[in-house]
Parts: sequence; C-alpha cells; structure tokens
Amino acid sequence: MSTNSESVVLVRDGKEVTRAQFREEVLAKIPASYSPARHFFVPSIVGVLAITSSLALLEAPTALDWYLVPLLFMLSNAVEWRAHKHVLHKRTKPFELLYDRHTPVHHRVYMTDDMAIRSPREFALVLVPAYGITLILAVTVPIAAVLAFFHQRNPACLFVATTTLYVLSYEWLHLSYHLPTNSFIGGLWLVRKLRRHHALHHDPRLMQKWNFNVTLPLWDLVRGTIYRGQRPEIAERDVAPPNLR
Ligand SMILES: [Zn+2]
Ligand SMILES: [Zn+2]
Repeated sequence: MSTNSESVVLVRDGKEVTRAQFREEVLAKIPASYSPARHFFVPSIVGVLAITSSLALLEAPTALDWYLVPLLFMLSNAVEWRAHKHVLHKRTKPFELLYDRHTPVHHRVYMTDDMAIRSPREFALVLVPAYGITLILAVTVPIAAVLAFFHQRNPACLFVATTTLYVLSYEWLHLSYHLPTNSFIGGLWLVRKLRRHHALHHDPRLMQKWNFNVTLPLWDLVRGTIYRGQRPEIAERDVAPPNLR
C-alpha cells in the first residue's frame, strides 16, 4: 500500500488532495497560541498529582482494596476499546467532535508505514483534546464522589489513582508510537513492540475492525479483534472506506 506523502487521501470538489497537502491544511488550522509543551505537561502534571495525592489519602488498605486495581485496569481497557470502536470510528451524538478529530484527521495524517509526527505542533493531532479530557472527568469524578459519599474512602482513592494512571498511559503510549522511530522514546523496545499493534490499526482498511486498544491489547484479545493476517497488497484508494474519501 502506498502511504507516501503523495498518496491521495481525499477527493474534494473533484480535486485530489494528497497526504502532504492535507497535513499542511490541518496544521494551518492549529491556533498560533497552541503550545505542545502545555498540551503535554498540564494533563501529565495534574494527573501525577491526582495519583500521588489519592494514594497518600489511602487509609490502611486491605488486600481486597488492592484487588480493585487490576479490576479497574481491565474495565478501563474495555472502555478504551469500546470508545475507540464506537465513538472515535462512528459519528455518534453527542461525541461528533471526537470522531471528527480522529477518523478523518488523525487517521488520514498518520498511516501504518508513516506514523511519525514531523514537529511538536503535531502533538495537537495526537494528544487527547481538552474536551476529551473534560469528558473523561465528567464520567470519573461523579463515580469517585459517590464512592466518597458512601464512605468508601479507599475504593474512591484507588479508583482515582488507577483511572488517572490509565488515561496518562494512553496519552504517553499513543504519543510514543507517533514519535520518530529513531528518537530515544520512539526507539524503546516496549514502544516498538506496542507500536506495531497500533500502526496496523492505522491501515485505513483495518481501522474499523481491528486493534482498537492503544495501550495493552487485552480487550482486543478478549473480543478477538487482534489483526493477525497479512496486510493486503491492494491500492489504498481502491479500498479506502467511504469516510476516508
Ligand atoms: Zn494513532
Ligand atoms: Zn482509530
């Protein structure tokens, strides 16, 4: 499959738009005030503070409390799988903005054989946007509040710590996969191993059906959605799904 910068990803008004042109258009829309460092560090620092402070608030946790951690990890992995398959790859109300940013942009700019960002400004195309983080908080904060209200202090703290760590690991791993392979982080053994799974998902012919986990592919394993076949050698534009046209 051709994924070079000249490959066509869009036909607009009868005119073909190449990947390189599309990338330029998308980057031109990023506000001048956008700061890649702020986009990366603010959620990371707030997240690490939330994790450390909720762990510090634990009161003599029992073994039963700690069992919550792998359970919540698995649940988060399943939620990640579902959200990726049913929200990021299907235009679902009221999450259209998340779809619009993912399938027609992130998947057009980065493809299996060309996953690397070209500049830190492209963090804007990889990291979860502010409204995505707001949405995650809107789901998790009430659950933690209900647990705290019913005096479930340790479960509440472990819920905050585990889910926050999960979201951070999603962000950090996804960004790592999209760093150049010859960079320090991009070249790490674990990143190289996990990148392969996500890179296959970036094949337009596979993205609607396979490899939905961006972190560890556990729920992909449970649901049988790990792609194990050969990548078919068919011209990209002959088979690109309609929503990539
Ligand atoms: Zn990606
Ligand atoms: Zn995707």
